Amino acid sequence: AATPSKSYTVTLLPGDGIGPEVISVARNALQLIASIEGIEFKFKEMPMGGAALDLTGVPLPEETLSAAKDSDAVLLGAIGGYKWDNNEKHLKPETGLLQLREGLKVFANLRPATVLPQLVDASTLKREVAEGVDLMVVRELTGGIYFGKPRGFGTNENGQEIGFNTEVYATYEIDRIARVAFETARKRRGKLCSVDKANVLEASMLWRKRVMEIASEYPDVELSHMYVDNAAMQLVRNPKQFDTIVTNNIFGDILSDEASMITGSIGMLPSASLGESGPGLFEPIHGSAPDIAGQDKANPLATLLSAAMLLKYGLGEEKAAQRIEAAVLNTLDRGYRTGDIYSAGLKLVGCKEMGEEVLKSIDSKV
Ligand code: ATP
Ligand code: MG
Repeated sequence: AATPSKSYTVTLLPGDGIGPEVISVARNALQLIASIEGIEFKFKEMPMGGAALDLTGVPLPEETLSAAKDSDAVLLGAIGGYKWDNNEKHLKPETGLLQLREGLKVFANLRPATVLPQLVDASTLKREVAEGVDLMVVRELTGGIYFGKPRGFGTNENGQEIGFNTEVYATYEIDRIARVAFETARKRRGKLCSVDKANVLEASMLWRKRVMEIASEYPDVELSHMYVDNAAMQLVRNPKQFDTIVTNNIFGDILSDEASMITGSIGMLPSASLGESGPGLFEPIHGSAPDIAGQDKANPLATLLSAAMLLKYGLGEEKAAQRIEAAVLNTLDRGYRTGDIYSAGLKLVGCKEMGEEVLKSIDSKV
């Protein structure tokens, strides 16, 4: 084989439950893509989550974080499970994920919701509304009301107990998430809808002002604005109108879950979390699925599509990304289904076999 033109270090964090099963499939796919595209991956597999807790006593060991920071991209399986559910709070596997996001300084969370023609009936919406939906929610992940100060409990003038939180956004936080969103829209269909509540909230007024300002750097992207209440409605009324949506932390939390239900298949949905310069974090949106772990039943497609996002948004290897996406569609076209997306008359397979079929599609052996 030819000497690879480019070499990337990819940290793999299999984690818990079905994590190791789906990561193994993605690793094989990336390896095969590398040999076809003439690139090289140096994989570093590190413990994380419950697996790391058992091994080292903490959910995110120093070595895991520094390996992640030193790599070009990070691919995570899933973390958590019954076994650790009664742990003290600071020793929960999920704490490791928060620490990882913090350590990698990933402030932009990208979640696509695509209704694939082969799976249109999995949608919670009517076929004619769901068909052809292909949108991306870009959510601000490290600011806003979830982190704003002051926050806490107190007492009001009537002596009643109160709880309070603060929605805060600074110019730099809005500008950087806006740029990620415009870049994302540019790689897609060139349409960006910014969602806010600028008729009521000052933080949203600044949000809208800055997004409009940053838009001048992207004259090729068509920008629109929508209030969040209307956006929530439009997402189920006519989701096809959206290409890329950018919004703050709390609105994005809600809207990205709403958008994922349009597709109806949790085993199919990838995500990316991006920072300013360092490595991005890529992971399926599903959890560790302890109910089916170790049974070779997991759908590996969400992780494969996360690997595609890793190639596209993390490494800029768009052609390699398209190879994975095309192979996933081809495998579905050939009738292969894991249990979560199975319907009568199709070929029911496990995680491993699904992975092998995708590899065949990548290799164009079918
Ligand atoms: P989280 O850990 O994020 O809180 P959760 O516990 O709410 O997630 P999951 O672990 O994602 O939920 O599992 C929810 C349901 O979906 C389970 O029944 C699980 O088996 C199923 N599921 C999740 N991921 C997959 C997958 N990749 N393939 C098949 N089934 C899946
Ligand atoms: Mg769970």
